[in-house]
Parts: sequence; structure tokens; C-alpha cells
Amino acid sequence: MKILLVGAGLSGAVIGRQLAEAGHDCRIIDSRSHIGGNCHTERDSETGVMLHVYGPHIFHTDDEGVWNYVNRFAEFMPFQNRVKTTSQDAVYSLPVNLHTINQFFGKTLRPDEARAFIESKADSSITDPQTFEEQALRFVGRELYEAFFKGYTEKQWGCSPQDLPASILKRLPVRFNYDDNYFFHRFQGMPREGYTALIAGILDHPRITVELETTFTPAMAEEADHVFWSGPLDGYFDYSLGRLGYRTLDFERFTYQGDYQGCAVMNYGDREVPWTRITEHKHFSPWESHEGSTCYREYSRAAEPEDIPYYPIRLVEEKSLLEEYVRLAEAQKSVTFVGRLGTYRYLDMDVTIREALDTAETFLTSAQTGQQMPTFAKSPL
Ligand SMILES: Cc1cc2nc3c(=O)[nH]c(=O)nc-3n(C[C@H](O)[C@H](O)[C@H](O)COP(=O)(O)OP(=O)(O)OC[C@H]3O[C@@H](n4cnc5c(N)ncnc54)[C@H](O)[C@@H]3O)c2cc1C
Repeated sequence: MKILLVGAGLSGAVIGRQLAEAGHDCRIIDSRSHIGGNCHTERDSETGVMLHVYGPHIFHTDDEGVWNYVNRFAEFMPFQNRVKTTSQDAVYSLPVNLHTINQFFGKTLRPDEARAFIESKADSSITDPQTFEEQALRFVGRELYEAFFKGYTEKQWGCSPQDLPASILKRLPVRFNYDDNYFFHRFQGMPREGYTALIAGILDHPRITVELETTFTPAMAEEADHVFWSGPLDGYFDYSLGRLGYRTLDFERFTYQGDYQGCAVMNYGDREVPWTRITEHKHFSPWESHEGSTCYREYSRAAEPEDIPYYPIRLVEEKSLLEEYVRLAEAQKSVTFVGRLGTYRYLDMDVTIREALDTAETFLTSAQTGQQMPTFAKSPL
């Protein structure tokens, strides 16, 4: 069959690869001038540092199949994310762990003592937390909440944690040991030559053609037997019902001679500091050595129509608009909406790849059995 895939990010690349290997002809288009979608990396022309152009990406997964899949196409180097935060004139370790607790409260508590201590700080009068703030107060108490969660969340989401649902903070956001590895997953790493090289490897197949700086037109769909759409769900319908809300990010790039902050990610918890974090990209490739350094100061705000959509907001208002778009989409034939934008969900890379592999599998089975391919292999609702 002739398959059109809109978007040369991980979703389009992985689905394209699986279908190409099964003998289908895949045309992949992307309106940008590069492959890789939001995972795109490139060398900074001034410092030579590998830049995570759309924000830092760390690969982490428990899915062995996905880990084996990415290792087919790129060499992965060991990498663990160890985040620091500047808050109230001090630097602490994140996620909040025993070191953070002992440093913050000036104590030398052991794990069980720290657990009891934090329990004594937690607001036990909140029995049925409704908001993010109530949930945080119930888990960790006011001091830790204000130092590590309140200001950062306000900047990240552009609203008070009193207006965010408790469900955002599902678990106790504190560790009672000295483990400062940001992720728990079994497999963690970084592709030696960056994510764009990984995705170039996935796309390297004789049945795949890639066209950059090419925006989707309905005429393209007419030439194809099936379309996989990894662009914005509302964008497919020309935003006819309105726009699904997103947060976007502004990156203020600056360079430095030497080591600017000594770590890859430094968060800023205080509300008065306008940026949420500074990322120093050479620390994402610790096996390389560079004199110069490239950093991004990262700011979060509501996305306007011309901005890159980063984080779906998915509060009550957006969910009801989403339901309407899902109904419109389900009336379409021969289109499947995939990926982070096509399904309006935050998806880590490993989840994106898993879903893309499963979607391709569903397509191949449907084609064999003559069944219709679902509009959403994974429901956005
Ligand atoms: C700031 C940030 C940090 C992240 N960090 C991590 C991390 O550390 N670890 C992790 O596992 N995941 C991380 N992620 C998630 C990761 O970025 C996603 O999993 C991944 O980008 C999803 O790939 P995708 O192909 O679905 O979407 P995208 O990468 O967005 O690709 C979609 C592509 O479609 C193209 N497109 C859209 N509309 C059209 C059109 N009309 N015509 C042609 N082309 C079009 C776009 O140009 C884009 O290239 C992060 C995400 C963000 C926002």
C-alpha cells in the first residue's frame, strides 16, 4: 500500500519503518527543515556541543522491547539525570530526597526518622485533597511545598496550584534515601550521536522517502491508501472548533567559556526568578569534552497559535473540546491519529515508540484480515 505519514518525529519514523519492513511504500513529510520532531538534536555551531533543540531529552524505560529497538539504530551511552534546584538562596538535590530534607531542615535524619519527621509536617487535616496544593500539603507540609513545588508549578503551568487538580501529584514526591537518579527505570541512556541520528537510522530504509519543509495538504491524502497523522489533532481540522490549549516554552540561549553550572539541569523554585530551569547541554553528553558551553534558560507560557505546542493542558475545558475533536476524527476514513500531538497527550519517548510499534502491528493485522484500521490506536480520552 501507499502510506502517507505526517510528521518525521518518533511516531512517524517508527510506524514508517515497521510498515516499510512489511513491504509498504511510506512517504513521510514534515513541515520543519529537519527530521526528529521535538527530539531533534544538532551540534551548536559556536561551541560544538550537542544541543537538544526543543528541550532536554533523556531516554528511560522499563520496556525491554523498546530498549532493544532503539539500540538497533544507535549506540546508547549510560546517562542518569541528576537534577538540582536553586531555591531560597541555596542549592538542593531533586527529586526531594533524604539529602534535600536533611539539608533543608539542618538535620541528620536516617530514613525512618525522616519519614516520621515529614509525616509530622504533613497537613493531616486535609482528608480529601481536591487541588494540587492540598495534595502537596497533605504529603509534605507547607515548608517543602513552598520551597520545591509551589513557585515551580506556578511558573510551569501559569496558574496557582490551587487551580490544578490533585491528580497531577499522584504519589508522595519524596524519597527517604539518598537516591537522586531522577528516573526509576531499568534502562536509561543517551544516544551517542544524538536523537536525530537515531531517527535517521530508523528512517533509513529503501521503501521510505522523507520530504522536509512540506506541509500536509488534503491532495496528498488522496494519493495515499492510508494516512498516519502525528501533527496536532485540532490542526487536522483547521482548528474549526477552536484550539486545544498547550503550554509552550521559550529557550533563551547563551554561551559560556568553561562549566557554567556543573550539572545538566538546574531548576529554579522561586517565583521571583522568571525562568523555570537552566539546562547546560554539554552535560547531557559527559563522554564528550568541550571548552565552550551552550545553555538554555527555559520559560513557560500559554501557547499562542504561532507557537510550538509543548505540553497539553488537559484540564476540564480542554477535555470537553478534545471530546468534540475525537468525535470529528472518528468520522474520518483511512486516517489514524498518533503520537503526542495527534492524541493530545504528554508521551515520553519510550511510550511514543511502544505505541508506534503497536499501531503498526494493528495496521498490518487489519490489512491482512480486511478490517478497518481504528482512527485512534490509543484513545486520547
Ligand atoms: C520539553 C520536553 C521535554 C521532553 N523530555 C523528554 C525526556 O526527557 N524523555 C522522554 O522520554 N520524552 C521526553 N519528551 C517527550 C518527547 O518529546 C515525545 O515523546 C516525542 O517528541 C513524541 O514524538 P512524536 O513523533 O509523537 O511528536 P513530534 O516529535 O512533535 O513530531 C511531530 C512532527 O509532526 C510535524 N508536523 C506537525 N504538523 C504537520 C503538518 N501539518 N504537516 C507536516 N508536518 C507536520 C512537526 O513538525 C513534528 O516534527 C519531552 C517533551 C517535551 C515537550
